[in-house]
Amino acid sequence: MKRIAILGSTGSIGQQALDIIRALPDQLQVVALAGDKNLKLLERQIREFRPKAFCSSAKPDIDYRGEFLSMEEIASHPEVDFVIVATSGKAGLSPTLAAIKAGKTVALASKEVLVMAGEIVVREASCHGVRILPIDSEHSAVWQCLQGEEDKAQRLLLTASGGPFYRYSQSQLAEVTPEQALRHPVWKMGRKVTVDSATLMNKGLEVIEAHWLFSFTFDSIGILIHPQSIVHSMVEFVDGSLKAQLGSPDMRLPIQYALSYPRRWPNSELPRLDWSKIQALNFEPVDYGRFPCLKSAVDAGKSGGTYPAVLCAADEVAVELFLSHRISFTGIARIVQETLERHRNTARPSLEEIMAADTWARECAMRSSPGHPEEAEQPSDLGRGR
Ligand code: MG
Repeated sequence: MKRIAILGSTGSIGQQALDIIRALPDQLQVVALAGDKNLKLLERQIREFRPKAFCSSAKPDIDYRGEFLSMEEIASHPEVDFVIVATSGKAGLSPTLAAIKAGKTVALASKEVLVMAGEIVVREASCHGVRILPIDSEHSAVWQCLQGEEDKAQRLLLTASGGPFYRYSQSQLAEVTPEQALRHPVWKMGRKVTVDSATLMNKGLEVIEAHWLFSFTFDSIGILIHPQSIVHSMVEFVDGSLKAQLGSPDMRLPIQYALSYPRRWPNSELPRLDWSKIQALNFEPVDYGRFPCLKSAVDAGKSGGTYPAVLCAADEVAVELFLSHRISFTGIARIVQETLERHRNTARPSLEEIMAADTWARECAMRSSPGHPEEAEQPSDLGRGR
């Protein structure tokens, strides 16, 4: 029996993780849940799963005697073996480090944890002998392809659906509305990641994540546009042979693999591919020039230091500005790029320096939004007195 904590249980990944746990009651048990603003849903989840501990922005209005704890306390709870980090933004970073220090297995769905602080997280995990398991479909695919291989692979090929606007011209992209961007052709996901998929920022964040998860250089991680999202990623070996992992585009599959690893469990609720409905599997090289967020992300990953944290923070602000109709779709890339250009990097940053860069980048990104009274400028002393 695996005893599980879910951080971000009311989000899209959290809810799908609970679907898996509900279907496999002999293998999996919920010990702790952490939600955020969706208190009504968290209350329903607490009533159903009766966790020993929970965390939320307010105390749930139900007759229930579980412990009300912080996310860090939940992540390191003595009765928890396995922590699913599915929070949005940077909220998962500190609880992930708490889980690692307490020796828990960590399954990561939250991209920001490795993007912002990959070096620190990987180092802490290796110090404490903790495994970081991927939940993202591309990384789960790579991980599955690497099973049983003794020799290091040569190249990772992450697939990308391309999002709803892959064939759009620059002028069409400028006219994209939030409503259009929130309609992803294949995957059902939260709002932030759906917009990130449309700008291809999501794929850039995944390249940085793959770099830390599998210790591959940026030059050995490629991207292929694959609109059907059936091949979730591929690995190329030194002899030129490739392995790919295929399946329905359904996040419950990679979630269950992280939970069942190194086993595979039967689950009749998981979808099977219907080959009679698949006409073709198409692949094409990605066009970096048309999707500047992707290039910004890969460049930030290569530069390292505090750049990836600045990338995440600026993107989060820019996506919010876009969703509230204050900037255009192409404005997202502009704000991200301008913020990165204004940033002065700190190499091998501490957690405090990463958090200071995050705060600086949010302010800088806000100031470059239209109608903001101040001129954006680089602060003279990063993170001090601001
Ligand atoms: Mg993904």
